Amino acid sequence: MILQIKNLNINYEVRNGFVNAVQDVNITLSENETLGLVGESGCGKSTLGKSLLKILPKNAKIDGEILFKNKNIAKYNEKEMRKIRGKHISMIFQDPMTSLNPIMKVKDLFLETIKSHYPDIPEEEALEMSGKILSDVGIDPIRMNEYSFQFSGGMRQRVMIALSLVLKPEIVIADEPTTSLDVIVQAQIMTVLKKLKDEHRMSMILITHDLGVVAELADRIGVMYAGHLVELSTAEKIYYEPKHPYTQALLKSIPNTNIEDRELRYIPGDLPNLVKPPKGCRFASRCPYAKSICHEQIPPDFEVEGTKVKCWLYEKVKV
Ligand code: ATP
Ligand code: SF4
Ligand code: MG
Repeated sequence: MILQIKNLNINYEVRNGFVNAVQDVNITLSENETLGLVGESGCGKSTLGKSLLKILPKNAKIDGEILFKNKNIAKYNEKEMRKIRGKHISMIFQDPMTSLNPIMKVKDLFLETIKSHYPDIPEEEALEMSGKILSDVGIDPIRMNEYSFQFSGGMRQRVMIALSLVLKPEIVIADEPTTSLDVIVQAQIMTVLKKLKDEHRMSMILITHDLGVVAELADRIGVMYAGHLVELSTAEKIYYEPKHPYTQALLKSIPNTNIEDRELRYIPGDLPNLVKPPKGCRFASRCPYAKSICHEQIPPDFEVEGTKVKCWLYEKVKV
């Protein structure tokens, strides 16, 4: 087990109280595993991802344990975290436009990253590492002398992937890595990411609101709703035997490839207010199966046929 997240709670302090963005989340990640994290906008995916690197804004408060190779990095200070970021756990962001410094040459972006962990490395060696990973992502190393603004969106995202993988981290968190790109480029980027992930035997947390994207890539999928991890299982089980009413609704909302039935079926209702979250199940106001206990008590995680599901419907199934 490379990562164990235990009872993770994340609150953002705001003027009228706290936004409870992540509540009581428990997840494990194995070596070489890809875990997909899905859910609607605002359900807490990025908050959870960023908490693993402690790059959340200052108004965020993290409680719980984040065990990376059995060490609780949730307790690490900024200096200790700097040693983890990039080298052991790295992140690929959604928008390389804003996350790559446009006024630096690509080679300097690499040198900066490499030297922050290996200050004494000869420049030649660092450039060789950079060239190697750039060609792995399909960029001619000669282009290292260009500035990132000279690259197209897809190429810039490849640079971002190369930068986040150059130090061969054990875990990479990819937060909507292709959302800003067109469909064909999205597919190319995901292929590159998957190939490198397998070659380097990394573990990956792939964050997206698109269940279709994780379908091909993820070993397991975690479904989040309003700060709760409502279902966690293998990709197959999530697809073919979804247990949580929210997962079932989410699957129905995927547009069918059948031309007769392309209409997106939205789930009626809105996400609850996370400053004053409902007392019980956070999906209760939208759930067709809600019963009285659902409005009163947060369901625990029930274990049903190898799936972890946070829903009162499975209370009796518990053995
Ligand atoms: P998306 O799919 O849109 O990226 P997400 O699942 O990544 O959404 P988060 O960005 O993690 O969601 O946000 C979770 C909740 O925390 C939301 O209600 C959001 O409004 C709130 N939030 C995020 N950042 C802050 C912040 N800095 N201060 C206060 N609340 C915040
Ligand atoms: Fe629906 Fe109740 Fe299950 Fe929540 S706990 S998803 S309201 S049945
Ligand atoms: Mg996000």
